Amino acid sequence: MRRREFLGSSAGLAAASLAGAASGLVSPAVSLAEKPKPGVKSAESAMSLPIIDTHQHLWDLSKFKLPWQAEEPTLAKNYLPADYLAAIAGQNVVQSVYMEVDVEVSQQHAEAEYVLELCARDDNPMTAAVISGRPASDDFVSYMKRYEKNDRIKGIRQVLHGASTPPGYCTAPAFVRGIQHLGTIGKSFDLCMRSDDMGDAVKLATLCPETRFIMDHCGNMSVTETKPAPRKIWLDGMKALAERPNVVCKVSGIIASASVKWTPQEMAPVVLDTIKAFGIDRVMFAADWPVCTLRAQFGQWVDCLNEIVKDFSEADRRKLFHDNAKAFYALPDKKWKA
Ligand SMILES: [Zn+2]
Repeated sequence: MRRREFLGSSAGLAAASLAGAASGLVSPAVSLAEKPKPGVKSAESAMSLPIIDTHQHLWDLSKFKLPWQAEEPTLAKNYLPADYLAAIAGQNVVQSVYMEVDVEVSQQHAEAEYVLELCARDDNPMTAAVISGRPASDDFVSYMKRYEKNDRIKGIRQVLHGASTPPGYCTAPAFVRGIQHLGTIGKSFDLCMRSDDMGDAVKLATLCPETRFIMDHCGNMSVTETKPAPRKIWLDGMKALAERPNVVCKVSGIIASASVKWTPQEMAPVVLDTIKAFGIDRVMFAADWPVCTLRAQFGQWVDCLNEIVKDFSEADRRKLFHDNAKAFYALPDKKWKA
């Protein structure tokens, strides 16, 4: 595949407020942003590796209400399937997995139906989805009923780093019961939480050994955090979590916490610590588009990660960008044309 051209200045990106972090769709560490910087070019060989994007958002504001966007004006516009196709143009994306976008609770089923239709079509790379749910709710078991036999619905996420989910929220008995239920029906749970709440994740994964977990976004460690104490809390938690055999981790999201003039070197310690903790067989690439556009276009993040792992073997890079996701989510093949 020929070298892609880099988009250096588009996207009209301005501010990502700390309040917006409560939405769960933006890393808690995001602060004021300006324009994304030009990308870092990587080797031709790396560009040709197939990519499965395990964390693709969409938001069609004519269909869904996303209450968190009142506090997140930068991202408060439509991001439609055609926009995603434009974002991945020139990238070798062979599949994507949709990630829920924290719609109003009354629209959760509608969101799932929307993405199931996209999965069934051959004009986009989406093959599966992680949908929204409230594991602690009384009706969670009945809520999940209609998805139990649906192979395209791989799991559930409820973001845990907002104000409504304080530390300890996910270890309360009702929540734990909901997550244990996911294990009994073969669905996973995506953990998206504060970097200093890793201990809660370890407890939850221990209480739910039959449920498979995906830690989102390298545990949401800010790449600009330089104080040793928070870095240690995060890394100790990631190591403890990685000892649980039912947990894998997405290498994603951290670009949103980067400085405006980010470099791959700024991102490298969090990426490499994550991969070291979980091992190369339990990490998966994700773009977190369009949230990544707060700092980088899709291809710029791919290029950044390729630069960080350029000394890995091709087999290991394939695991990170493609093979692990295919195996973990048991994704079907999909032929599609842009
Ligand atoms: Zn996301």
